[in-house]
Amino acid sequence: MNVWRPPHCADTAALAKTIAQRCQHATPVHNGWQASCPAHEDDRPALSITPTADRVLLRCHAGCTTPDIVTALGMSMADLFVWSHAR
Ligand SMILES: [Zn+2]
Repeated sequence: MNVWRPPHCADTAALAKTIAQRCQHATPVHNGWQASCPAHEDDRPALSITPTADRVLLRCHAGCTTPDIVTALGMSMADLFVWSHAR
């Protein structure tokens, strides 16, 4: 699996869009993005990509866990967070 690091994003909305573009069939919805889940055979978009204040939520309606999804994208859990200040 190729490792992919998302580019640094200034806010969660930008990060959600970047993640959505990694998935098939991404479409914008009222609170974020809907896309095909990369962690299972998904012929209709089951994945919700929702920006919140400090992180992006990934939720698969078929029941894949967030670690499953980030692994399928080649990301790590930490990549879902946008840090507004240097740690
Ligand atoms: Zn899934």
